[in-house]
Amino acid sequence: MADECLFCGIVAGTVPAQKVREDDETLTFADTNPQAPFHVLVIPRKHIPDIGALGADPDAAAALLRAIRAVAQENGLTDYRTVFNTGAKVGQSVFHVHAHVLSGRPMSWPPG
Ligand code: 5GP
Ligand code: ZN
Repeated sequence: MADECLFCGIVAGTVPAQKVREDDETLTFADTNPQAPFHVLVIPRKHIPDIGALGADPDAAAALLRAIRAVAQENGLTDYRTVFNTGAKVGQSVFHVHAHVLSGRPMSWPPG
């Protein structure tokens, strides 16, 4: 756990969250500022700052992908967008890697 990390606080239970799914390696919870009717964040329990660092940890990367797959299946999502923001210039605001999983409305491309 990293000090001062909001999402480590959610893993530790010191920060409240609307949990959607849990397993040994990951946690999924509702985004407090949803950008679609379905908008959750899927995170590793251990502190990993971004997708670059996640890519150096194949076990954690595989666990996160399995969790995204499970979230989609368990919630009947057929069409959904998965976003990893990496770096403040493209919108990363919490530096504990998280996959946004968004669904439930049409989405345009390219993203803004
Ligand atoms: P980022 O901007 O880093 O890609 O995504 C961070 C996300 O975390 C944002 O979509 C934001 O709404 C969400 N968020 C920020 N603070 C909290 C919080 O305390 N609880 C939850 N559940 N989500 C949060
Ligand atoms: Zn963290």
